[in-house]
Amino acid sequence: MIHKKSRDEIKRMRHAGHIVALVHKKMKEVIEPGISTKELDNIAYNIIKGERAVPTFLGYHGFPGSICASINEQVVHGIPNENITVKEGDIISIDVGATYAGMVGDGAWTYPVGKVSDDVQRLLKTTEEALFAGIAQMKAGNVLDDISGAVEDVANREKLGIVRQYGGHGVGHEMHEDPFLFNYRVGDKTLIKPNMAIAIEPMLNLGCDDVVVADDEWTVSTKDSKPSAHFEHTVLATEDEPLIITQLLKE
Ligand code: MG
Repeated sequence: MIHKKSRDEIKRMRHAGHIVALVHKKMKEVIEPGISTKELDNIAYNIIKGERAVPTFLGYHGFPGSICASINEQVVHGIPNENITVKEGDIISIDVGATYAGMVGDGAWTYPVGKVSDDVQRLLKTTEEALFAGIAQMKAGNVLDDISGAVEDVANREKLGIVRQYGGHGVGHEMHEDPFLFNYRVGDKTLIKPNMAIAIEPMLNLGCDDVVVADDEWTVSTKDSKPSAHFEHTVLATEDEPLIITQLLKE
């Protein structure tokens, strides 16, 4: 079941989401050829700590970073490393979580490094579009399958692979709460109610759906080594329009 958040929980969660958005704002500024994923991790760690929050990922099932940094064919869960740098034409997905006063915000974005190919540009645009198509369905009275289907339709239109083994999730006191949210229709009729929060996160590939996990037991890559993109927002259902939690607060 999905927990319905109290007003106070939502307030704290929005602050957590604000911190996630601060990290992404900085990532957009600093990602350039030559920067290492460990440098990006340090920047994210310092922002989160400076906001009196906790990096949710650090130590999660033993994960050694505050961000996941996944380059090109890597889909999710790339481990920050001082020897791994990005170069012109790469894409890098940064996934980050912040826990503020016990509540979690979780958000990911895939950034181009300099100029990328037309196909990769289409992958980024489409995956972002799929995220927002999913968010638009996060409305009281809809069911989870409405979100999944909206993501699937955008991916299918551009003939992109849809990662099947990973997906969105409830979020609140913990980063991963029920329910699991698929990025394609599975017939889940779970009703969306006001004050439920879900991390919606399409992971789409330029090639096939299939993914493999590396020997480090974390890094997930596409099986055919074609590029993959990942966009994620934590979203709250309301009585009215969906509220994106992982965005900057006004003041
Ligand atoms: Mg997530």
